[in-house]
Amino acid sequence: MIVVMKSSAVAEDVTRVVERVCELGLTPHLSKGEYRTIIGAIGEKKPDTQQQLQQLPGVDEVMAITQPYKLASREFHEADTILDVKGVRIGGPHVNVIAGPCAIESREILFTVAKAVKDAGASILRGGAFKPRSSPYSFSGMGEDGLKLLKEAGDEMGMPTITEVVDPRDVDVVCKYADMIQIGARNMQNFNLLLEVGKTDKPVFIKRGLAASITELLMSAEYVLSQGNHRVILCERGIRTFSEETRFTLDLSAVPVIQERSHLPVFVDPSHAAGKRDLVPSLAIASIAVGASGAIVEVHSCPDRALCDGPQAVLPENFKKMMEQIRKVAEIVGHRVTLWGQEDTTTKPQASGGWAT
Ligand code: PEP
Ligand code: MN
Repeated sequence: MIVVMKSSAVAEDVTRVVERVCELGLTPHLSKGEYRTIIGAIGEKKPDTQQQLQQLPGVDEVMAITQPYKLASREFHEADTILDVKGVRIGGPHVNVIAGPCAIESREILFTVAKAVKDAGASILRGGAFKPRSSPYSFSGMGEDGLKLLKEAGDEMGMPTITEVVDPRDVDVVCKYADMIQIGARNMQNFNLLLEVGKTDKPVFIKRGLAASITELLMSAEYVLSQGNHRVILCERGIRTFSEETRFTLDLSAVPVIQERSHLPVFVDPSHAAGKRDLVPSLAIASIAVGASGAIVEVHSCPDRALCDGPQAVLPENFKKMMEQIRKVAEIVGHRVTLWGQEDTTTKPQASGGWAT
């Protein structure tokens, strides 16, 4: 249920509603918009709850949220959520490209790739230290040593970093070194992991499961949001279909569908969807054209020696060309690319309390 406050409501009105929501055994979640405050009241409501809240001073309307996800829903938070990660704005019209190797394999490769993607304009550095692999015999990542290298590379390049966590027991160590947490496709419905990252203050980048519906993806976001972490980004990364030409089938329609239903930023991962490097630039460009707030792209300086996902890793020179095209397309669709080192001062994050941090 959401309580929409009048634009004339004062702070005491909001406090009174929040207290009443708690008394009714519901959990309040505040969303402060430019003109109005909305209070989400999450939990089992009793028959008269709606009528009781409706009568409080400053309350304009009390409505049921029709979707099964509440805090992720646009009904609860109308404006696009825009996050700030070390000065990089994510969401809405801000286009960011996250790039780097699939896995952190060595200092030399990580730093070479980091420098190349930074020079080409990527704003966030990726690299996996804990790799979920289909085979238990495959390289499964460097663990904490890899995280240390990622932090060093991010600090040296001045880029925020993102890395995947696969085990709730590793959330603390990942938070110690990385600026953003990735939940991989295979863990999208690992609910304990979602609850654990929901207790942190790091932005959580959730990738759509291989066979998950959009509603299921939004329910996963809800798990994180329900714990008080409002910094969630969603990512379409390809789903399983009968098509065999690509590793997965990139569901580009997921982007506008999610944007219609949710205020959360939507990214696309063309690398894991395609599985082939030659297809990645076209799909990345298409992602921006369809309105995504960014793409996450795997890049490697010597992909034939990569320990993970080599066939889909784009070479640095092709990544550079792709970035040039992405900038042009972003301009056409009225979005702006956050280039590394270039402060975007044209759009301020919305003043919407905890939602725009
Ligand atoms: C990855 O980003 O390297 C990865 C494993 O992605 P996904 O979870 O989408 O397969
Ligand atoms: Mn990968």
